[in-house]
Amino acid sequence: MQDKKRKKLLEERSALLSELSGLQNLLHGSWVKRYTTCARSDCHCHTGERHGPRYYVVVNEGGRQKQKYVPKSQVEAAFRGIEQHKWLLEIVERITHINLILMRMEALEEHQ
Ligand SMILES: [Zn+2]
Repeated sequence: MQDKKRKKLLEERSALLSELSGLQNLLHGSWVKRYTTCARSDCHCHTGERHGPRYYVVVNEGGRQKQKYVPKSQVEAAFRGIEQHKWLLEIVERITHINLILMRMEALEEHQ
């Protein structure tokens, strides 16, 4: 019984670990959409619709928040990357949970 449960947990952990290799777009950041006005005083952006949206990811660089411009062609990939980070955290939580169970079963060790 214990062996069967252990085997199932190890399989689950392997599956989660292999999910990691699919996170190539990974971006740890949050999304900012900005609308701007330009320098031309006669431009419609001053009275009506502002320019944009322009997309930025807010990332942490050495303890500081930085906004990085995302070119239009990269917006979709960057969005996926931010989603992948959420999935990464979820994977970390799940593996932690599995490893804690394995630890209690005294079966936490290196496999493959
Ligand atoms: Zn303008």
